[in-house]
Amino acid sequence: MDYLPIFIDIKHQPCLVVGGGDVAYRKINLLLKADAAVTCVAKECCEEIRKLAKSKKIKYIKKAFIKSDINAQMLIISATDNVNLNARVSALAKEVNIPVNVVDSPALCSFVMPSIVDRSPIIIAVSSAGKAPVLARLVRAKLESSIPHAYGKLAELAGDFRDKVKQKLNNIESRRHFWEKIFSGIVAEKVFSGKIEEAKADLQAQLGEHVDDKTGEVYLVGAGPGDADLLTFKALRLMQQADVILYDRLVSDEVMELVRRDAELIYVGKECANHTVAQGDINQLLVDLAKQGRRVCRLKGGDPFIFGRGGEEIETLAENNVPFQVVPGITAASGCSTYSGIPLTHRDYSQSLRFVTGHLKDGTMNLPWDELVVEQQTIVFYMALIGAKYLSKQLMAHGMRANMPVALIERGTTPEHKVYVTTLMELSNLVENTNIHAPTLIIVGEVVKLREKLNWFEA
Ligand code: SAH
Repeated sequence: MDYLPIFIDIKHQPCLVVGGGDVAYRKINLLLKADAAVTCVAKECCEEIRKLAKSKKIKYIKKAFIKSDINAQMLIISATDNVNLNARVSALAKEVNIPVNVVDSPALCSFVMPSIVDRSPIIIAVSSAGKAPVLARLVRAKLESSIPHAYGKLAELAGDFRDKVKQKLNNIESRRHFWEKIFSGIVAEKVFSGKIEEAKADLQAQLGEHVDDKTGEVYLVGAGPGDADLLTFKALRLMQQADVILYDRLVSDEVMELVRRDAELIYVGKECANHTVAQGDINQLLVDLAKQGRRVCRLKGGDPFIFGRGGEEIETLAENNVPFQVVPGITAASGCSTYSGIPLTHRDYSQSLRFVTGHLKDGTMNLPWDELVVEQQTIVFYMALIGAKYLSKQLMAHGMRANMPVALIERGTTPEHKVYVTTLMELSNLVENTNIHAPTLIIVGEVVKLREKLNWFEA
């Protein structure tokens, strides 16, 4: 270890910043976050520092740095662009053993400033000992994305209950168990969704004698259209905390790679009209698993509430008093159009947008065709590959021009992403004579033309 990581209490302690530019300003802000009494010494300073001084948040002394400025300081940061001055500040500070940091000069520092993930009171500091600050920042970005913002609130809550828990549970092992359950269960989830008072009540109840912790929870999670980078932070967190994962064909392999390693995986299929597990059985399975006390993640392609029957699944949960959360996902229309360079709306071509299901029932689609055939509107058909011929016929019969541009997007956003551009007239011909596979999305509208200029993903 090149450096000892420590957290110092600098509340109301004198800290000196030499320099008055943007970098100095950033360091001052950091010191202020930890409530330091900051003095800034510089011949000139930026507007922001001037404002801080004016509002008495710091003391600014407009002058050149001299030796006596370091007297009685607890920490010193030198952030000037004068190499000699930085070296002098460093030497003087080291002489009297005051910790000193010189921005961008590890050799002159006796302490380095880490990259920080701030979930106060939880603070994570990352350092590369000055060797690769950019890498440290990347590590920080990874941590930022995987640690919920409300961890701070969770830690505060735990702090409030710490003594009570200690009194109630007198051995370390049972306290550890208790807190593990709290931090990965319903109390934590309530804190994450901002229901602090409910979380407090639950925590209190779980500390009490009659704890009913038999019921688990269901997370109905939108897994997006395929590219795992399109998952939300929340989706990823819940996927990694669930004990059981129920997934279907639309969830990409790449996304499945990210679920908790030791979770039980249950495939519930779902190909059109060929459900591996009937919808009613899926609904019931969710209830049964949760009632066994398990945390169940129901992963669905795209967004669970857009042609995903997510509503039906949670209706059954609600009827059975099973707690649940729903996480929206990027729906196929959004992912596929974006990755194909087709903006769904555009000031010149389309002011409205319709999402419709093109699922054939008894050989037809029950759609309000007159409402679909209007100027300046984009229509996105889900589940319409088999019904493509029927829909093109209907749209033309209701007055849409035969050369209206149409895009078919196969396995959008995945490495197999493929786009076919045609016209309404040619659509059925294309589908009949080309080997296009599900899942495929169909976009009808003038906006399809924009792809010629805006296609970025395949390019
Ligand atoms: N809930 C999902 C939609 C489920 S319906 C969502 O919000 O995206 C299934 C239909 O979605 C498929 O028939 C297809 O039309 C479309 N779809 C889903 N993922 C797709 C993808 N990666 N590429 C193309 N179409 C997709």
